[in-house]
Amino acid sequence: MAEVLAASGVIAHHSKAFWRALFREGDLDLSAGKFLPPLQRWIDQAVGEGKPYFLDAPEVVDEIRSADGRTRKFLLRLRDGQTIETVLMGYDGRHTVCVSTQAGCAMGCVFCATGQMGFVRHLRVGEIVAQVLHARRVLHQTHPTKRLRNLVLMGMGEPLHNIDAVLHALDIISDVRGIGIGPSKISISTVGVVPGILRLAEEQQPYRLAVSLHGSTEEERAALVPVSQRWPLAMLIDACRQYGALTGKRILFEWTLIAGKNDSPETAARLARLLAGIDAHINLIPLNPTGGFAGTASHAGHAFQRILLAAGFPCTFRQRRGIDVAAGCGMLKADKRPRAAG
Ligand code: SF4
Repeated sequence: MAEVLAASGVIAHHSKAFWRALFREGDLDLSAGKFLPPLQRWIDQAVGEGKPYFLDAPEVVDEIRSADGRTRKFLLRLRDGQTIETVLMGYDGRHTVCVSTQAGCAMGCVFCATGQMGFVRHLRVGEIVAQVLHARRVLHQTHPTKRLRNLVLMGMGEPLHNIDAVLHALDIISDVRGIGIGPSKISISTVGVVPGILRLAEEQQPYRLAVSLHGSTEEERAALVPVSQRWPLAMLIDACRQYGALTGKRILFEWTLIAGKNDSPETAARLARLLAGIDAHINLIPLNPTGGFAGTASHAGHAFQRILLAAGFPCTFRQRRGIDVAAGCGMLKADKRPRAAG
């Protein structure tokens, strides 16, 4: 953004004022009279032209809190009427915001409410950043001393399908002069978009990578994640090995446990063999109720975990948050959206 401003002839002093107003103070009102005339003219022109980096302050259509008060799901309406969801989750000692990167999703994972909506459109840079600003504002109102320190790109959409906008947004979100969420506290989650994984590795992007795997054979995965027909499991695992070799970073593998589909001891043993040699942390996610699939029983989930632990992998269960407000993983489906655009 600073480069955009400089290239547009906005002098550094003005660009700092602009940056501070937007990203440190979270003031999305860019209306006339707030800035010195040269900057205001530039803002008015850029907003009028719909420049993609501009923050589109979304309208908050709805907010639902979980019974325990620790999860808040926001339904946000964008300028063109599309709606997306953003979730603020409170854990012991930290708060995490989960943002959307697309309206709908093209990946069609069979257990995911968003996937069943189909793809509507990519979110713009400003629409991604604005979700973080909204969550931060809400957090400050309720917990004035707390900072928003964690971000996961696990809301609606596949982040690596919209990778240019996502990386631009993360540049802004991680900038210490503004929002300042550290890159190591930002997780990009993908269902296996191989070119995107390789790009993150080649560009040495500083964020954490989470890969939703869900199947230990081509057949098992293809039944749950249709995109694996385009980027098969073998290709995905190869990309993960390259990512690890190039970046030296650990990969978080997400595994949604679905009763009778991918939760057997044999599957756990096969998964351990598949990931052998990769610096991997496996995160088990008991399926949230959606789409007619049942979650794995607790004892079977723990048996699955023991096999992976015995094989030497760190393996944890994701803390469940927001189940009662349909804000858990795979449950986001903006209910008040207009018709799909494409
Ligand atoms: S799980 Fe993620 S990638 Fe798959 S359909 Fe849902 S939002 Fe898209």
